[in-house]
Amino acid sequence: MKSKEPSGWKEFLVLRAKTVHERAKLMAASGERSRLDLSPAHVLELLERYPVLYREAWVTPSNTASRFACDGFDVGGGWFRIVDALSAKLARDKALHVVQLKEKYGRLTVYFERDEGVPVDRRLDAMLDVALDKAGDRSTRTCEVCGGRGTREKRGHTVCVRCVSCLQIEEMVDACRRIAECTKGLDSAAFSANENSQDAVRLAMLHIGHASFERSPKSRARLPGIDWASLDRLQDTAGIMRISAKEIWKFVREDAPELERKLR
Ligand SMILES: [Zn+2]
Repeated sequence: MKSKEPSGWKEFLVLRAKTVHERAKLMAASGERSRLDLSPAHVLELLERYPVLYREAWVTPSNTASRFACDGFDVGGGWFRIVDALSAKLARDKALHVVQLKEKYGRLTVYFERDEGVPVDRRLDAMLDVALDKAGDRSTRTCEVCGGRGTREKRGHTVCVRCVSCLQIEEMVDACRRIAECTKGLDSAAFSANENSQDAVRLAMLHIGHASFERSPKSRARLPGIDWASLDRLQDTAGIMRISAKEIWKFVREDAPELERKLR
């Protein structure tokens, strides 16, 4: 699973031919955001500081040759400082502009183009190569979500950099998704008659309970609005065994989708 899936609204705004700059302003005003994306405030900060380097932020995304115009800063908020420090260096060469900036196999990857006909400053060029390598290396040790110390983790077919705490959140999101999958097409009566589905949900609930219980108070505080105390109770195996099919069904239909939404 690719942990960083494009949100529906992001694609919508690309289809509406909004530039990266316009999208960031719109999202900043609406409060719409995902914990896996660079925040609109950070995007606007980078554009204000490095307008030449990120000149494609003002290009309409219908020009498909420009990945940056479509995807913008395709990294999580935890890498903001790395991107900012690297941008400050790259911006010293006024002939450069970024055409793609993304996470690739758990590493910050930046592609840029150079204006034609501008003579290359060899020393500056060598310095920028070093800066790109350093930023890439630093990103492989920095949680892409929160900026804490992270390690590269294989998840499905991809690799991402996460700290333990952010990884647990994603495990909880995965558990919510498994719940939705194993109850697809069932109604309350069919679910009550299907012990396998009930057990699959019970296992996912236990998983959520354990991931919740291991989270530190600090990491809990980053996600207000979640009832951690009631999630902690899900790690009690005996308690989970006692829950009736009706109560589990309520968790399937109400609590799990709401939890997934809050964790995103
Ligand atoms: Zn993290």
